Amino acid sequence: MIVDVHTHTPTHREPVPTGARRSYSHWRTDRAVTTTNSWADFAAATAKADVVIVFNIAVADPERMTGLPYAAERANDATAEFVAADPAARIGFFSVNPLEAGAFTEAERCRELGLAGVKLAPNYQDFDPLADRALAFYAYCERHALPILFHQGASPIRHAPLRYTHPLVADEIALRFPALRMVLAHMGHPWATETVVTIRKHPHVYADVSSIYLRPWVCYQSLLAAVEWGCTAKLLLGSDFPIAGTGEAMAGLRGVNEILAGTALPRVPERAIEEIIHADALGALGLTASRP
Ligand SMILES: [Zn+2]
Repeated sequence: MIVDVHTHTPTHREPVPTGARRSYSHWRTDRAVTTTNSWADFAAATAKADVVIVFNIAVADPERMTGLPYAAERANDATAEFVAADPAARIGFFSVNPLEAGAFTEAERCRELGLAGVKLAPNYQDFDPLADRALAFYAYCERHALPILFHQGASPIRHAPLRYTHPLVADEIALRFPALRMVLAHMGHPWATETVVTIRKHPHVYADVSSIYLRPWVCYQSLLAAVEWGCTAKLLLGSDFPIAGTGEAMAGLRGVNEILAGTALPRVPERAIEEIIHADALGALGLTASRP
C-alpha cells in the first residue's frame, strides 16, 4: 500500500473560479505552484496513493503566510468535509494554534469530526514550539494517541521564523514526550542530517521526504545520510500537494541517483527507495484506514 502522508486540503469543492486562482513562484524553482485547487485536482495529483493524510494549517493570516485563500476558522471543517467524501482513502489531520485560547476545545471538536492527527507549523502559525502551552498540547496529543506532523525546515515566507522549524527543537519535544508520534516534514530541509540524527534515536519520530526531490543535490545528500545512519525505515512518502503530486514524488525519489553519472559517489540503494515508497506509514503513526 502506498501512503502519501503529506497533502494539503484542496481549497475548492468545485472547479476553481478564474477570479479565485492564486499561483506563486516561490515554492519551487522550475514552475509556479497553484495554491487554489479543486477536489478533482487533488484526486488527479494523488492518484498513485492508496491512502493520503490530508490537512490544512490553522494560520491567523493565510494570505500573508501561506498564500491560501480560505479563512483559518474553516481550516478543519474543510478537511473534515473532504475526508468524509472518501473516508477509505483519506485520513484527516486538524490544526490549531496551541497558544490560543480555545485550542483544546477545537481539538475535542475535531476528534469528534473523526480527524485523527494534528498538523502544526510553528513558523507559519508564529508560535514558539517549546512554549508551555505548546508543551501542554503535545501532552494532550500523546495522551490521545494523536500523531503530529510538524512543518520542518526551510520556507520562502519572510515572516515565518526559521528557528521554530529546526529538527533539534523536535528532539527537545521528543525527549519530553517519548510516546508521542511525530513526523518531521521535508526531512527538515536543509537540515537533513540533524533530522536523521533525531529520528534515529527516538522510536516514534519519523520524517517525510516531501519536496526534497525538487533539489537533486539536497535529495541525494538527505537520503544518503539516512542510509549511512541506518534509518531509512523511519522515512515516509509525501508529496506536499499542491507543491507536487504523489507520482511526481515517487519518480523524484527513484531518480535520486541520476546526478551520479560519471562519478564514484555511493548510490542510494534502490531497496531503500522502495522501502520509503511502500513504508507502513499508518502502522508507524498508529492510524487505520478503512481501505483494505
Ligand atoms: Zn506542506
